[in-house]
Amino acid sequence: MFVYADHAATTKMSDVALKAYSETAAQFYGNPSSLHSLGQRAKEVLEDCRGRIARAINADPREIYFTSGGSESDNQAIRSAAYAGAKKGKKKLVSTAIEHHAVLHTLKKLEREGFEVVLVPVKPNGIVDVKQLEASIDENCALVSVMLANNEIGTIQPVNEVGEICRRRGVLFHTDAVQAVGHIPVDVKEIGCDYLALSAHKFTGPKGVGVLFAKRGAPLTPLIEGGAQEKNKRAGTEDLPAIAGMTAALEASIADMGRSSAVLKRLQDKLIDGLSKIPHCALNGDRTLRLPGNISFCFEGIEGESLLLLLDEKGICASSGSACTSGSLDPSHVLLAIGRVHDVAHGSLRLTLGAENTEADVDYLLEAVPEVVTYLRNMSPVWRDLQEGRRQYIL
Ligand SMILES: *Cc1c(COP(=O)(O)O)cnc(C)c1O
Repeated sequence: MFVYADHAATTKMSDVALKAYSETAAQFYGNPSSLHSLGQRAKEVLEDCRGRIARAINADPREIYFTSGGSESDNQAIRSAAYAGAKKGKKKLVSTAIEHHAVLHTLKKLEREGFEVVLVPVKPNGIVDVKQLEASIDENCALVSVMLANNEIGTIQPVNEVGEICRRRGVLFHTDAVQAVGHIPVDVKEIGCDYLALSAHKFTGPKGVGVLFAKRGAPLTPLIEGGAQEKNKRAGTEDLPAIAGMTAALEASIADMGRSSAVLKRLQDKLIDGLSKIPHCALNGDRTLRLPGNISFCFEGIEGESLLLLLDEKGICASSGSACTSGSLDPSHVLLAIGRVHDVAHGSLRLTLGAENTEADVDYLLEAVPEVVTYLRNMSPVWRDLQEGRRQYIL
């Protein structure tokens, strides 16, 4: 059996996206900046995609900038707002403790460049404390950045409320909507954001392509200098096949959202209920304010990495919260932010389902995960200490 349960990391391209990608690559290979007819036909496809992406998130086509993905969009939004703020003497950037590294590392770098960064904590359910966020906003504040949905624990943040506060206080607002777009309804006017980042490969589009929405009038500084593409805000020949693939994937994801999110919620409920029966475990993140298909647990007395390797041997692709990709042994900043202690945070498992997962997949997960957890606990000296009372259970 093979179960792909790592859709928050990336998704397989859908057939419609692949078709749009390959047909565009074959037919519209002209450079959209060329004046000849082949170039102009590519330009028409590009502008058609821009209009369709804009409609999908209720934006104006002039507010859509094609980028290389979520990371670039986050970087550009934050830097643009920071530089614009600095010109007016505003050097405070407010964000949350659970943002993606594309946001956190950009903020860290800006801090070294002389900005003041405030990371607002989240409540134990993984939802940002809006009161504390508002209290951090003062006349020096240039930008507030709050993600729409968290990539590890799936929590959906009260971004409409944050947008309203930012508008009232006259502060720019960026939201990283990479995990949300294509999965739950996203409307830039309802959110009231100045910037929004999205990435195609998280909703069955190609990798290496995304969008930065920047509201008309919002400051925008290029990160990449060169040609005049994207209204002089993002140089480089557009990856038209990828943009067409992203557009097709987004429209298909939105058209199927009602059905797929109902299916995903049902599978999610079944998995959460089943895994909750494992002793000394805890669900990470709010039980209801979460993305359909996101399941994140901590199991006491085990190592997340060993869990992943053994699950992989059983044909299951999953993820842990720890930052193993960066080669560091630090547990996830998100799990620490919701109050998990180091040892517990290390025993994390993230399963993220997608539209092609089935009931049989969930049944297999419900068989494999408890089995592997028990196996690892039986080998763990920490677990023995817990069982024999030399150490106190936390969960
Ligand atoms: C994946 C992800 C990103 C990065 O997007 P890329 O397109 O892979 O650069 C940023 N933010 C969140 C919340 C993500 O899940």
